[in-house]
Amino acid sequence: MQKQETIQVKDKTFAISIPELELKQQIKRVADEITRDYAGRQPVFLAVLNGSFIFAADLLREIDLPCEISFVKLASYQGTNSTGSIREVIGLNIDITDRPVIIVEDIVDTGLTMAHMLDTLKGHNPASIDICTLLLKPTKLQVKLDIRYCCKEIPDDFVVGFGLDYDGFGRNTKDIYTIIQNQ
Ligand code: 5GP
Repeated sequence: MQKQETIQVKDKTFAISIPELELKQQIKRVADEITRDYAGRQPVFLAVLNGSFIFAADLLREIDLPCEISFVKLASYQGTNSTGSIREVIGLNIDITDRPVIIVEDIVDTGLTMAHMLDTLKGHNPASIDICTLLLKPTKLQVKLDIRYCCKEIPDDFVVGFGLDYDGFGRNTKDIYTIIQNQ
């Protein structure tokens, strides 16, 4: 898609806020940190679908380590026993027992999705779990989360592009756009 200062996604207008070049620079910085921190190990990257597919593709190509990747989703459903809601990681086709795991997420907002993901993955007995997110809204965090790798902190505004959607649309831009308020 062509670079534009503003875009229309369905009924909303968005203005460019993080250009492609800055995204690439921040992703390279984080990838270099991971490559350094994980030297001598073979991490498993778990990219959380759908929003992280572009970030994961760019991040992985900057990682200079032997590594694997799996694309996962967190699903909740009502169990038949009294424990109520059961959470499951769908798409986990690699045995992560005793492996170092790096979760690749598009954006951490309240942090509840990541907290649930951590809880569920711990049941698979990985050696360690780190979180790597493209974006973080620090003012929205509702739970205590140790986010080891973050490309960029942003204000509490809704963003689209670079894999992130508004109602299914807007993922296919090279830059990230922020919603224009008062629409
Ligand atoms: P959390 O559980 O941290 O509140 O929410 C995380 C999920 O909410 C993200 O994976 C993403 O799907 C969605 N989300 C949160 N903020 C935004 C945003 O500004 N834009 C988009 N497109 N999705 C968001």
